[in-house]
Amino acid sequence: MSDHPIFTADHDALRASVRGLLAREVTPYVEEWEQTTFPDTVFRCLGDAGLLGLGKPVEYGGQGIDTVSGLVLAEELGRVNSAGVAMGISVHTDMAMPPILAFGSEQQKSEWLVPAIRGETILCLGISEPEAGSDVAAIRTTARRDGDDYVISGSKMFITNGLRAHAIVLLTREPDTGHGYTLLLVPMSLSGITRERPLSKVGLRASDTAVLTFDAVRVPASAVIGSAGEGFKHIMWELQGERLTAAAYCVGAAEWLIETALRYARERRAFGKPIAEHQAIRHRLAEMAMELEAARQLVYSTAWKVGQGTCGAGDIAIAKLFATRSASTIADSAMQIHGGAGCMTEYGVERAWRDLRTFRIGAGTDEIMLDIIGRAIGRTKTEDQR
Ligand SMILES: Cc1cc2nc3c(=O)[nH]c(=O)nc-3n(C[C@H](O)[C@H](O)[C@H](O)COP(=O)(O)OP(=O)(O)OC[C@H]3O[C@@H](n4cnc5c(N)ncnc54)[C@H](O)[C@@H]3O)c2cc1C
Repeated sequence: MSDHPIFTADHDALRASVRGLLAREVTPYVEEWEQTTFPDTVFRCLGDAGLLGLGKPVEYGGQGIDTVSGLVLAEELGRVNSAGVAMGISVHTDMAMPPILAFGSEQQKSEWLVPAIRGETILCLGISEPEAGSDVAAIRTTARRDGDDYVISGSKMFITNGLRAHAIVLLTREPDTGHGYTLLLVPMSLSGITRERPLSKVGLRASDTAVLTFDAVRVPASAVIGSAGEGFKHIMWELQGERLTAAAYCVGAAEWLIETALRYARERRAFGKPIAEHQAIRHRLAEMAMELEAARQLVYSTAWKVGQGTCGAGDIAIAKLFATRSASTIADSAMQIHGGAGCMTEYGVERAWRDLRTFRIGAGTDEIMLDIIGRAIGRTKTEDQR
């Protein structure tokens, strides 16, 4: 299926089975879920198929496959053209699970990671706040040490899966101990947690996005993920995987958009011939294909570097920035090629156009990616990996 050297026959087989499953279980419902958000049963369905733990160790119920398998899933979700579904899944598997797996205790892994990989419980990630997004260090949610417990107060903003999650990986600061930032694994059923109304948004409408408030929420010290005071470092590490997943989603989405636009351009006639035969449309399709190919090669080579352990934050920022920008431009072109039809929901193109725009904001904005790339220029690989 794919002729790129990072993919093996096993990846191709995985891709075919993921594509089949998504075509049956997700594609028929994407427009309906734009109105209702997607149901929790999607997690269970993907969990049963082993897709929520592709790169996770077998001992926790994962498939123990390499990082490229996650890229295959992200691309295939992109081809389904519901970034809301992809975002809900990705927050669960690529954003909330990795810090638990990498830094969590065995108790946290058995209690939360194992059922999450099965799709029985749902996770979310709480970094952003009303007063702090790009500037993660400015968060104000506090976790005050009180005997053997922590008491959490504050609020989190734009939290995907926030309305449905069973637990949150929560970034807090410890104001009294001088420890800095601490990452906590917090059950969402605890008293003092309020899930505010769903936020209405331009894209990703199949996902739920919430404001969460924490009012003197008490957790034991065993809720700390990794070491107290290391939370900022842990979360900066987590963002790398999240960004590559977003970039891979964009490759799949752009591929779907080009196929869709080409099909339409061959069928739609204007001035006596298919619009695909007008040079302006052909050139636009050529530009789209070029953008996609460049993004694809960049994402694949970045994934390869991740597998080799040679990938720096600057490499990932380049892939994320380029792939998300390209997909956004390709969606705009696909809409243009569709004319009025592109503005109608039944074609799916306007959904992609709305969805893909949000990718240039979530998981680090364009401007933050440029800052990271700027800092990486002139540094050695080892310095950039820190
Ligand atoms: C649909 C959606 C889902 C999300 N899901 C989650 C989630 O599950 N969990 C979570 O924690 N967060 C989530 N987020 C939040 C997301 O990570 C933030 O929106 C993003 O990091 C940007 O932060 P902000 O919105 O506060 O913008 P701000 O940081 O306020 O930025 C506003 C503008 O200023 C620019 N800017 C900021 N700093 C600089 C600088 N130094 N130099 C130049 N320009 C700068 C930005 O690039 C941007 O253009 C989600 C966001 C969206 C849209």
